Amino acid sequence: MLHIGCHLSCSQGYLAMGKQALALGADTFQFFTRNPRGGNVKPFDAQDAASLVALMEEHHFAPILAHAPYTLNACAADEKIRNFAVRTMEEDLQRLSHIPGAMLNFHPGSHVKQGVETGVRLIAQMLDAVYTPEVTTTVLLETMAGKGSEVGSRFEELRAILDTTKTGDRLGICLDTCHVYDAGYDIVEDLDGVLEEFDRVLGLQRLRAIHLNDSKNPMGSHKDRHEKIGEGCIGLEAIARIIRHPKLRHLPFYLETPNELPGYAREIALLRGLQEEEA
Ligand code: FE
Ligand code: FE
Ligand code: ZN
Repeated sequence: MLHIGCHLSCSQGYLAMGKQALALGADTFQFFTRNPRGGNVKPFDAQDAASLVALMEEHHFAPILAHAPYTLNACAADEKIRNFAVRTMEEDLQRLSHIPGAMLNFHPGSHVKQGVETGVRLIAQMLDAVYTPEVTTTVLLETMAGKGSEVGSRFEELRAILDTTKTGDRLGICLDTCHVYDAGYDIVEDLDGVLEEFDRVLGLQRLRAIHLNDSKNPMGSHKDRHEKIGEGCIGLEAIARIIRHPKLRHLPFYLETPNELPGYAREIALLRGLQEEEA
C-alpha cells in the first residue's frame, strides 16, 4: 500500500491534523513545527499529542514528518540566527519525543557567501549540539534545489555533513523530487541512474522520506517552485515511476504541492490509483 500524505496546517493542533489526514485519504502527513516564516510556537499540549498517537495507532499511520521552519538556518553568518536554529531544533525535538516514530526534516541551510565548506561545518556543529544520544526522533536532511547559497543540492554536500557531524550514523535523508530535479538530477529520464548515484554517495538505506512534488521549472533551474502533480516539468509518468519504484515504493511520500485540501485529496486518490494500477 502506498504511504502518502500532504502538508497540513499545524495551527489546528495534533489530533485535528490526524483526523484531517484521514478525511483526505492519507495515512500520514507533514506539518510545520511552528510558524514557518517566524519562530512562534503554541504552548505544547501533551494530551493532544497523545490523542494523535492513539489515532495513528488505530489507523496504522506511516511515520509522520515534522518540518522545521524555513527561517531556521544552521549555517547563517549571524551568530544570533545560528543560536535560534539550535534553540528551535532542541525545542522541536523535545516536543516530538511525545510522538513515537515521528521524524524531523530540515533544510540544511544557506551559507550566505561563507562558502560550502564553512556551511557544512556550521550545520554539523548545530547537529552535534542538538542531536544528542537521548533524542529518539530521526532527523532528516532535505535535498535542496540549490537556490541562492543553499547547501545540500548535491548529494556530495549532504555526504560532507554526514562525515563532519558526530551524529552522521543516525541521520536520514528526505528526497524532494522538485528539488533534486531543480538541482540537475534527471529523475525523469534516468531515475535508476539517480538512485544509483544516491546509493553510491549517501546510501539508499538513509533515504527515509520523499517530498513528492512536480516542478514549475525544467531540470537544473535551481528555482524551487513546486507544481501540482502531473502539471509540471516532471510530469505524471515520471511521478508514477517514482511511487512504483521497487527501491522507493515502501517509503512515506509527502505532497507539498500548491493545493487547498480538496486538491490534496484528489492527488492522493490519483496516486493511490496509479500505484495499484500497476499491481
Ligand atoms: Fe522542505
Ligand atoms: Fe520539500
Ligand atoms: Zn521546495
